[in-house]
Amino acid sequence: MATKGWGRPELLFLTGPPGEKSSAGRGAPARDERQAARQDARQDARQDAPDKKDPHRAAFRYSWYIMAKKPTASPASDEKAPPKPARKVTPGALAKARTVAEAAGPSPSSDTAAPGFDTYAAAAACASLTALEALIPTCSACPRLRSYCQVVAAEKTKRFASEEFWGRPVPGFGDPDARILIVGLAPAALGANRTGRLFTGDRSGDFLYAALHRVGLASQAQSTARGDGLTLRGVYISAAGRCAPPDNRPTPEELTSCRAFLLRELALLKNLRVVIVLGAIAHEALLLSFPTPAPEAEPPASASTPSKAAKRPKAVKFAHGATFPLPREPGLQALTLMDCYHVSQQNTFTGLLTPAMLDQVLQQARTLAQL
Ligand code: SF4
Repeated sequence: MATKGWGRPELLFLTGPPGEKSSAGRGAPARDERQAARQDARQDARQDAPDKKDPHRAAFRYSWYIMAKKPTASPASDEKAPPKPARKVTPGALAKARTVAEAAGPSPSSDTAAPGFDTYAAAAACASLTALEALIPTCSACPRLRSYCQVVAAEKTKRFASEEFWGRPVPGFGDPDARILIVGLAPAALGANRTGRLFTGDRSGDFLYAALHRVGLASQAQSTARGDGLTLRGVYISAAGRCAPPDNRPTPEELTSCRAFLLRELALLKNLRVVIVLGAIAHEALLLSFPTPAPEAEPPASASTPSKAAKRPKAVKFAHGATFPLPREPGLQALTLMDCYHVSQQNTFTGLLTPAMLDQVLQQARTLAQL
């Protein structure tokens, strides 16, 4: 039954194999079958190297993936209550998937289509932040991510059904004279991919902007939408990737393509003195943006045994609270890298990162930047 290629029949598990009855009832797949099919769908979604050449195929796969992700009944209800009828793939859903595939952009044979789009050349041609902010939403270098963002924007969730999703790469945001740059991982599918502004419209943003407001670097604590009146003082917000990735996991190739924009921001923000990286991926992206290795790191202030900490190869290791001097062109102010846990719910709900910890990092950055 299983065949390779798009339109894989095994994804039709939603209606069950012909002639077979599952233990959960007619038309409803058994739990194991559903799990296997979901794993298959996820694996397809991740291992889609061939799709890099074909955004249409990628869009289709993701639309199937999203439909497959929606369970028809909870595992518990399989045993305790009659299962709900299996969700069928309707002609309407298929038409929707086709629309999304068409929206995935020009065909790979086109000169402007990914992966031929040279982000480094395009970014280098931007003489100002304004030009760069206008360029980024037009980027199509990563078919997998572009298709995913478009599918999320087309599918919408009930909660945001009435909203127009941004669905494009998200540019940086903030003060062009910034002394502090904050670098996150990538837009959230229902956050910045919906609103078009980094850390806007989700819990991570609520946490970050509330802290920026507390330390006097943001005009307001809430960040709900572009044009909500929020302004930043001396701060610019950026990210390692500008398109929302499935499972929050961009591939190394995607991060490499997208680093071109971060590099350009670093060059255009002439007054920078501090870069705060949120999480290990942003830390890595930032270090890779510098041609020479960073000098020896300073241990975090909380390190209990400074002598031990000093022996680690810390210059390339992420550690919350650690600071690293970064190389800079002659004539420009010294630049310091500061590590901070990411403001994701995974960290803030578990207490790994508390408001007080983030305030401390921001206050330290403010002092270093003389803001
Ligand atoms: S992740 Fe970056 S490089 Fe890739 S398509 Fe989005 S904006 Fe372009």
